[in-house]
Amino acid sequence: MSETLLEVKGLTKHYVSKKGLWGAKKTVRAVNGIDLTLYNGEVVSIVGESGCGKSTLGRCVLRLIEPSAGSVHFEGSNILEMDNKSLRAVKRDMQFVFQDPYASLNPRSTVEDILMVPLEVHRIGDKIERRQKVQRMMDIVGLSKQHLKRYPHEFSGGQRQRIGIARALILQPKLIIADEPVSALDVSVQAQILNLMQDLKEEFKLTYMFISHDLSVVRHISDRVAVMYLGKIVEIADKNSLYSDPQHPYTKALLSSVPVPDPEAKKERILLEGDVPSPSNPPSGCTFHTRCPFAFEACKTVEPTLKPLSDERMVACHLLHP
Ligand code: SF4
Repeated sequence: MSETLLEVKGLTKHYVSKKGLWGAKKTVRAVNGIDLTLYNGEVVSIVGESGCGKSTLGRCVLRLIEPSAGSVHFEGSNILEMDNKSLRAVKRDMQFVFQDPYASLNPRSTVEDILMVPLEVHRIGDKIERRQKVQRMMDIVGLSKQHLKRYPHEFSGGQRQRIGIARALILQPKLIIADEPVSALDVSVQAQILNLMQDLKEEFKLTYMFISHDLSVVRHISDRVAVMYLGKIVEIADKNSLYSDPQHPYTKALLSSVPVPDPEAKKERILLEGDVPSPSNPPSGCTFHTRCPFAFEACKTVEPTLKPLSDERMVACHLLHP
């Protein structure tokens, strides 16, 4: 394993709101004590159903949202303890690619202005050098110089995401957190953007945290995959082991719904009962017990912890750690 780039420990984001006639407090446990390590040069995907906390996790890691507790060490320094000046310096190495490129690009700015902003904020080069960097980045993401004077609405969805990626890359970061970067795009364009991200990873020696609900997309790009349920990681493993032999009952159910290209292959779909419980009122014990086909008595009261099952895999389930 190569060097650690990012180490997240006990990361928690709880939203407390007043609700009800008497102003009773309601706590939404969006992210609930996440431990996660990313090594240099790898792609770790975070998967799970909508509302499981994966996007909040990504935003907390970059302090786009302030976490409630925990630590986020980037190259050994805890960014949650940094003042604004130190944080701005470290954020040059940590960039975010958003799901909706249109919403994340200023509609009143040309592409050139959009790409110049990060260079100006971080005082990189003079005006001529910045222009050259912007032009080179356009080339790298497959756009032409003629596009520089255009506005975001003049581009297709795939081109806009290329601009979003160019903006993230222009500071030559080490880590990119991409939140559902292809989910708003057509399938054919998805493949182009994923291939671009893979090429850029090699060229710029990037590390990705790739957030997605789409297990087919995740299979294409990941080295390791972390499965989240109600604000917690329930299984993390290298991609091949996870897809060929999922262990946690929730991972099994998620993967059973992924279509396989072989028409001869028989696959039994595991249908989960009920809806995902509310993160403001999570079930006791194992939070998955209300939907788990294998739940037994202890699951209702004792919370399982994420423990190693092998060198490549950690799982939180009483069945696997009796
Ligand atoms: Fe199912 Fe129990 Fe394992 Fe939770 S701990 S996943 S309820 S068997």
